[in-house]
Amino acid sequence: MDAKTCLEKYKRISVLNFATVGMDGSPQVRCISAIHYEDNAMYFFTAPGKTFYDELIFDGRVQILGYTKFKEMIRTSAVAKLVDESERKKWIDIIFDEQPYLANLYAGEKRYIGVIFEIKDAEIEYFNLGVNPIFRELYTIGNGKINSRGYEISEKCIGCGQCSEACPQHAIDSGNPYVINQTHCLHCGACAKVCPANAVIKI
Ligand code: SF4
Ligand code: SF4
Repeated sequence: MDAKTCLEKYKRISVLNFATVGMDGSPQVRCISAIHYEDNAMYFFTAPGKTFYDELIFDGRVQILGYTKFKEMIRTSAVAKLVDESERKKWIDIIFDEQPYLANLYAGEKRYIGVIFEIKDAEIEYFNLGVNPIFRELYTIGNGKINSRGYEISEKCIGCGQCSEACPQHAIDSGNPYVINQTHCLHCGACAKVCPANAVIKI
């Protein structure tokens, strides 16, 4: 799995959930499908009169979530940026060509009242619940940064093995200290709960 494949999966899902930050700080989520994908970027259409536009200009942070029928969750965290005026029409035409239904909403030249936002720098989390053990990885596009999450085991580990027994995914290897295989970790916290040495730390 890699970032490019995640974007290809988004394309097949077609309609994605876009979460933004509301003007009052509240969470806001919408279904968005007017999206064009490049290998390492996404471009999406909206109209400048929409609250969605206000939120993107005001804060810009977005989380985009897609879920496949194979139980794959793909979450992208980024800051959406307004595309420069010189490129706006080009991306609008590409998106409208790829998705003819949009002409029902903005017929003819009226499409050009719209604007385009781009996502070029992002963290992408891939989480597959349909395999055993579960599989998760983090990728980036552009200058996106990875924010580590989950659990790790510190030097306080006394090697008792209780965490490994409690783990529902058998994701903890013995050692000094014991080690969590992050690729197969559910982030359930069962290991931290049973550790007698408080060696399991939430990242
Ligand atoms: S958080 Fe859950 S899945 Fe991950 S290592 Fe601990 S017990 Fe296992
Ligand atoms: S339960 Fe705690 S002390 Fe025991 S092996 Fe796991 S991390 Fe180490």
